[in-house]
Parts: sequence; structure tokens; C-alpha cells
Amino acid sequence: MKNINIADSFNVELKEDENVDNTRRKVFEAAYSFVTPLQPSKPQLIHVSMDMAKSLGIDPKSVHSEEFLNIVSGKEVYPNTRPYAMAYAGHQFGSWAGQLGDGRAINLFEVEHNHKRWALQLKGAGPTPYSRQGDGLAVLRSSIREYLCSEAMFHLNVPTTRALSLVLTGDEVLRDMLYDGNAAYEKGAIVCRVAPTFIRFGNFELFAARQDFKNLKALTDYTIRYFFPHLGAPSKEVYISFFREVANRTLDMIVHWQRVGFVHGVMNTDNMSILGLTIDYGPYGWLEGFDFGWTPNTTDRQNKRYRYGNQPNIALWNLLQLANALFPLVEEAKPFEAILHKYQTDFDQKFLDMMRSKLGLQTSSKQDKSLIDNLQDCLLMAETDMTIFFRNLASYEKDKDAIKAILMPALYRPKEISPKSLELWSQWFKAYGQRLGKETLSNKARKGAMNKINPKYVLRNYMAQMAIDEANGGNYQLIEELFTMLKKPYDEQTEYEKWFAKRPEWARHKVGCSMLSCSS
Ligand code: AMP
Ligand code: MG
Repeated sequence: MKNINIADSFNVELKEDENVDNTRRKVFEAAYSFVTPLQPSKPQLIHVSMDMAKSLGIDPKSVHSEEFLNIVSGKEVYPNTRPYAMAYAGHQFGSWAGQLGDGRAINLFEVEHNHKRWALQLKGAGPTPYSRQGDGLAVLRSSIREYLCSEAMFHLNVPTTRALSLVLTGDEVLRDMLYDGNAAYEKGAIVCRVAPTFIRFGNFELFAARQDFKNLKALTDYTIRYFFPHLGAPSKEVYISFFREVANRTLDMIVHWQRVGFVHGVMNTDNMSILGLTIDYGPYGWLEGFDFGWTPNTTDRQNKRYRYGNQPNIALWNLLQLANALFPLVEEAKPFEAILHKYQTDFDQKFLDMMRSKLGLQTSSKQDKSLIDNLQDCLLMAETDMTIFFRNLASYEKDKDAIKAILMPALYRPKEISPKSLELWSQWFKAYGQRLGKETLSNKARKGAMNKINPKYVLRNYMAQMAIDEANGGNYQLIEELFTMLKKPYDEQTEYEKWFAKRPEWARHKVGCSMLSCSS
């Protein structure tokens, strides 16, 4: 890991917490606190993302060195760097939560490689001033889920933070996984996450809530200078353009989530990246059956605030909180209101375009909206696996029996669907066939285009759980298999055909497969 190009900026340009004691407390007038990772007892490397290592300019041979392991497990601090935890606040489940901060994430350093900036961060490397009641640690199961999913999302072309490595610390961590009073020890682990920056909406909210406008301005100017330099030198107009771009990026991210059937599960404002990246993989999940009302997060079971169908609205709500935080820099509400208003019409348009692409439509027609609405009704009539349906839809041909080619038996067994539902499906396929008649692409070309939009393989909840169960027993092969497969989610990869299947019945109600708590 020698000769990486360290290029620290956040902990150089922004105000530090002068108190360097690692005690839990409120931190004022500072963007971060310097903190040293905890010493792991017996670190062990489980997996490395070689793509990520290369993007960082890390020599592929060095990832199996002791030096690499020491850095990504927190055992050693890289020469001439100063790790730190960021200060931020947030709205959690719709309520103001005050100061939160990196309670179990420690930023190591930033690097520049091929003109790109990357920040490296350890999740689970010990307490920080922001740990509140928590221990600053992470368990193997949640670390596997974050490691596999963030790299899978990247390969699905969904904006996301990345992961460089997954290590065991050799220490045990106490967790009450189901919040039912049965705490147990689990293996401790650390993911080294990577993103251009880990700044969240909540970083801005913290300063705004405290009326610390000096640090609010410094943070915003820094963010624009480093990550939105094309907007120009900070000014009132530029702050508005900045907010507009964050809104657009956030919207694009959400449209991608809806496209692949990803449900974040905890869209609190502290989990919203200022770069519009998917961040903080906790109790997330993938739709199996298409269902707007589904959430993987048991903590949200009552209100289902963060359900699949509500993600676009919540992103807008979160953007409103960010607008409130940036308001003091502009002191004019109108421009923010206009951007928030436009988000709604832009969403409708982008969602429609995205759905057209899932259906293989290159042109647009007035009837597309009702074609898509009717499809959603069909998908909801009986439990319909979202991934398999859209992947199979590429095989539609006018003269073939669509029910056989696409729906049965891949999606429904005979008793699982009523004759009435089948009739509605037939009507829909007929309308779809007529609509395709207005397109010019050949079946083959349409199939090719659809297969680049509708993934064949996603990290179904039970798949991650199988990898976790094996890893808890010391076997990491399934992590490797899933990691490799998910690098090419749009390719046929017939050797992995067994993963192109509906969730097995045993997984329907198994903890970790269909529902997850925030315990991690
Ligand atoms: P989350 O919603 O999981 O992203 O976390 C919300 C807040 O709780 C953040 O400030 C986290 O840093 C903090 N947090 C979560 N788990 C722990 C933990 N085990 N120890 C310390 N802080 C934690
Ligand atoms: Mg978080």
C-alpha cells in the first residue's frame, strides 16, 4: 500500500474539534473530531474489491500484505494522516434528532488517483465522540451486507458509496439482533468504505440548527469547491445551483432504486449523501414480489415510512430539510421552493422514461402512462417477482404465447393465479404488443437494450443471509461467489442460473431474509 497519493482536504480545510479526548459528548463549532481507531485483537482479511483497489492506485499485489490489513482494520494509522469522525445531525423517521455524527465510522484519509478524489472510511473501528450509547462496532452480518450490496449497486449503475475491503477484527460484539432481550455475542467486522466524500444532508443541518452560520458557510463552500467546482465560486446564486444539483442527483438515485427494486430502509437525513449516492446500507432490502408497500426494516413496520413506493416522497421531504439548512446562506425562500416544486414534475417524467426503458420502448406515446399503470396493477394482483418478470419480458414476441413465455411457470404456478388475473395479463400483453408495433427496433435489438436495464441478478435478501450463515461458520466462499456474480448483473452468466430464481419458501419468514432490524 506504499506510494498512494494522500490528498487530505476535509480535515485540513474545515474546523476541527479542539478537544482530542475520545469521550462521548456534544461537539460545537467543529466539522469533525480527530480520533484513533480501536486496536483489533486479531484482524483477518475476508475479501477485497480489486476494482476499488485499482481505482485508488493501490498496487494489487499489496492487498494481501500485513500493511494493507493493518490499515483497513484500524491497527495502524497510515503515515502522515490523521483519522477523524464527522459531526452531523439529522431527522430520523421524520423527527429532529439533534447531533448524531460518525458514531462508528472513522475517516482515514483522502487519496487522489487519475484525477479522482476518494475518502476511505472504516465502519466499525471503535467509538468516537459521536457514539452516544453505541459501542462504535459492527458485526459480521451487517458488514457482509454492506460490502456485497454497495459493490453490487455500483455494478448495477446505481450511484453509491463503494467498499474496498471486509475484515474480521477478532473481537466479539454484543448485539440484541431482534430487540427482544436476547443479546448474544457475534463476530466483529470492519468494512473500509470509499466515496469521493461522506458528507450528508445532516452535516449542513447540524450547523444550521445551531445557527453556526460561519461553519455552515465554510462547509458549503468547501463542498462546492471540491465536489461541485463547475458551479463556480460560492455566491448566493451558486448556493441555489448547488441545491438544484443535489436535488437532481438525489432524484436520479431514487429513480435507479425504483428501477432495480432496492429499498433503503432508513432514509433519515443523516443517511442522505450530498453527492446523491446510496449510503449507509443497514436494514435495506430488495423487492422479491413487486409491492409498493414493502419495507425490510422491522423498526419501521408500523408506519412503513420508508416503504418502496414512498422513497420518492421521502427524498423530497429530506431535500426540504436540506433547503431549510441552506436557507441562511441565501435568505430567500422562493428559489428553493421552485426547485422542490420542480422535483415533483421531474420525478414523474424521469420515472416514466425509466419505466419505458424497462419495457424496451425507445419512443414515447401518450398511452405509455396508462400502459405502465396497468402493468403495475397486473404485477400487484398476485405476488410477482419483480426481477424475473422484467428480465423475462425481454423475451416477448408478438406471435408467442406471452403467458407461457414470461409468466408460467417461472413466476406463477397454476394455482397461484386466478383465471381473472390471467385474463387481465393477456389484455396487458396485447396492449404491450400493439405498443411495440409502433417501435422500430427488432426483437433482438430490443432484448439487448432491455437486458442492460433489467438486471438478471440482484442481491436477494436470502442470498446475503446464506453468505452470512456460511461466513459465521468460517466459510467465505459464498461471499466470493456472490461478489463475482454481482459484478456482471446484466450478463446471462448461465453458470449462476440457480440464482435467477424466486426466493425459496424457507426464506419467506426467516430473520435476515425478509425482515431486518436496525441492529448491526
Ligand atoms: P444509522 O441510522 O444506522 O445510519 O445510524 C444512526 C446514528 O447512530 C449514526 O450517528 C451512527 O453513527 C450511530 N450508530 C449506529 N450504530 C452505532 C454503534 N454501534 N455505535 C455507535 N454509534 C452508532
Ligand atoms: Mg447512518
